[in-house]
Amino acid sequence: MGVRVRFAPSPTGLLHLGGARTALFNYLFASGHKGQCILRIEDTDQGRLVPGSKEGLEESLQWLGVQFHESPSKGGPYGPYIQSERLSLYQQYARELLNGGSGYPCFCGKERLQSLRQRGTTGYDRRCRKLSRRQANEEMSRGSPFTVRLKVPENEVVCVEDAVYGRVEIKSSTIEDQVLLKTDGFPTYHFACVVDDHCMEISHVLRGEEWLLSTAKHCLLYSSLGWKPPQFVHLPLLVSSTGEKLSKRLQGTSVLSYQERGFLAEAVAEFLCRLGWSGGGEREGRSLEELAANFSLSGISRSPATVDEGKLMSTNKRHFRRHLHDPESAAVLARKLAECVKTTLTVPHDSSSLAPEYLFQVLQLLEPGCWKN
Ligand code: GLU
Repeated sequence: MGVRVRFAPSPTGLLHLGGARTALFNYLFASGHKGQCILRIEDTDQGRLVPGSKEGLEESLQWLGVQFHESPSKGGPYGPYIQSERLSLYQQYARELLNGGSGYPCFCGKERLQSLRQRGTTGYDRRCRKLSRRQANEEMSRGSPFTVRLKVPENEVVCVEDAVYGRVEIKSSTIEDQVLLKTDGFPTYHFACVVDDHCMEISHVLRGEEWLLSTAKHCLLYSSLGWKPPQFVHLPLLVSSTGEKLSKRLQGTSVLSYQERGFLAEAVAEFLCRLGWSGGGEREGRSLEELAANFSLSGISRSPATVDEGKLMSTNKRHFRRHLHDPESAAVLARKLAECVKTTLTVPHDSSSLAPEYLFQVLQLLEPGCWKN
């Protein structure tokens, strides 16, 4: 089977640097293997949706140069590509787990779960797991609302094989009987993600390191459903120059904010591709095609990658120079500069100082060596 990867953002806001880096790594990996890269929108947590963010995410990805073979707007043979449009699929597999005995209905309401938490119980106490099939059926026929939970095996060790972090072992006793399907018929993230990765024939799952431990839950689901898991590839954390975890909520870390500050798209893209991957060679100023040709999973590191703006500046400079040497893109830069001159310069200027030939020569002055006497 060929390479099929997916980028699966939740439409809860702007595309931030971490998400963009994940999307780019997926894109490079697929391109380098002549595989397919898929965009899937994970909107099952309806309470967290932010209107317009799906469109915003797609625009930022397009700006960066990430192209998808299949997506909500493009469609494709494995669609729909928005999880809220796939509910019957998750319900079908939840029923399969119930019938096969790997899942069970849980009738515990919010109040009971809350009081368990208040009493300090870690996770769900598995009360409904002890119900007989007959008791559960009776409860269901009375129309009581229920969630579907996974029967997590007791005292087993779950092994996650990860291409970057190696073998990670997690005791099943630390995993709660997770909810798969909520009372309103919506799946939880973990369930929807596993069902979709399987049904969309995803071969490799590249995503942030923060998902590594929950992958144990996914592995349990794969084995309960009798499916082969994809190859997992977790990407190292991004940290700020002061060592803090880069969070979605941090101001100024959205792709849009870099776009608004005037950075070149290909510079931001290359900068992100080099966060946690070391196979891009020393020389900066590379296109996504060049990076894809060299991309390999073995070049991904485990240690957190630092987002250093100085580095982004130097990458931006490289790409800027590359543009200067290409007449077509230099003309675009000259037009952009003309806009800036018109809107921001307070010193007198006339139309001759806005002429593309003139501005092009001004831009050439940025080349090293130009200012030597
Ligand atoms: N929807 C998840 C997120 O927003 C995707 C995680 C995954 O790639 O499995 O990060």
